[in-house]
Amino acid sequence: MDPDASISRRLRGAGLRVTAPRVAVLQLLEEHPHATAQTVERLARQRLGSVSTQAVYDVLAAFTTAGLVRRIEPAGSPALFETRTGDNHHHLVCRACGRTTDVDCAVGESVCLLPADSAGYLVDEAEVVFWGLCPDCRRDRDTDTRPPAEETG
Ligand SMILES: [Zn+2]
Ligand SMILES: [Zn+2]
Repeated sequence: MDPDASISRRLRGAGLRVTAPRVAVLQLLEEHPHATAQTVERLARQRLGSVSTQAVYDVLAAFTTAGLVRRIEPAGSPALFETRTGDNHHHLVCRACGRTTDVDCAVGESVCLLPADSAGYLVDEAEVVFWGLCPDCRRDRDTDTRPPAEETG
């Protein structure tokens, strides 16, 4: 299937006009899940030649509102954007390098987790972030005792 065609179909399905920045941003988020707006902007510029910061932020805002894109904001991190929406998945986030990995929802649907006391709230979503160290950072930490590596360029 032509990837461009399927992207265009998704844009139209969400009630959005198909424009080059929108196609590029949606494609980039498919290829780079959990990208920051800054990363999207850099990649979009590589792909499109020139695109304004405002245009990228407008596209991300439109996608988020339309439900094409999910925005997550781990504490202390800039907002991250991803195209995997509506499946109530959760995230593993590395405290050291910020790497973010999807983890399937514990029961596969919202709400998979209820507070011990919902205090009268009608809960419709549980957003879970599992904080820790990613495999690379664990390995780095384990080898911290060796002498520092020589600087290379
Ligand atoms: Zn890490
Ligand atoms: Zn995710």
